[in-house]
Amino acid sequence: MLSIKQRQLNLRTYHLFYTGNIDGIEGTLTKNAYRNFQKYTGLSVDGIYGVNTNNKLIAVIKDLQVKLNDKGYNLAVDGMVGNATISAIRDFQTKNGLVVDEIAGTKTYEKLNSSISPSSNKYRYPVNFIAITQYYSNKHKALDLGWSNSDGGQNQSVYACYEGTVITNTYDSEAGNFIAIKHDNGDVSRYLHLNSKSSLKVGTRVQKGTFIGNMGTTGRSTGNHLHFDLTKNGSRVNPIDYLYVYNDQRVYSGSKNSVRYI
Ligand SMILES: [Zn+2]
Repeated sequence: MLSIKQRQLNLRTYHLFYTGNIDGIEGTLTKNAYRNFQKYTGLSVDGIYGVNTNNKLIAVIKDLQVKLNDKGYNLAVDGMVGNATISAIRDFQTKNGLVVDEIAGTKTYEKLNSSISPSSNKYRYPVNFIAITQYYSNKHKALDLGWSNSDGGQNQSVYACYEGTVITNTYDSEAGNFIAIKHDNGDVSRYLHLNSKSSLKVGTRVQKGTFIGNMGTTGRSTGNHLHFDLTKNGSRVNPIDYLYVYNDQRVYSGSKNSVRYI
């Protein structure tokens, strides 16, 4: 559960549902904010901050952070409004001739949603047939992508998600055959359990879509899959927040609602 201060920050930034001070006190203004937020987002309106309200409040801020990132900002997608998110909103409002109030309200959302053109500077899923078999969690800070015999096949090709430089190409007993690519913005993407050692040498420059190797089950793995992780500013982030499905890629029906499309 978000702390009360964090709820207030989120609810202030999101359509100004909270209008009081960020004081961590769950008073009338805070409870009214819960109520108005619940109504706005279609939750049952009881003014009580339960699990559904908490999840929804995190989800809408994550969505806001993703939209801002689509406009060129580089926010952690954590569902919590902090200084970075507020500065991004202020900057976006300034550049787009909006009232600069640091609130993501209707006008700001209109601009954020207009002409969304996720340009070529987006990460591409590292396989062309996308079947998610394990999601990101605190215990698994990566995305597992599986396989299907009817489509990509169990050893389908693995591709670089974006241009960058190969910084690791090795084998270890946990990761199996794996490769790491450092991108020019400092992010590092890694591709584990490859079927055999990649032919790309350390120092090689790769492009988005460069073939890395084939999916496998080397190292500590119980079946053919790609364990893909992404490090941003020194921390493993949820790849789903940064990867896009490109037009030539296909998504297994079970994963369709989890992914974002270019
Ligand atoms: Zn994994």
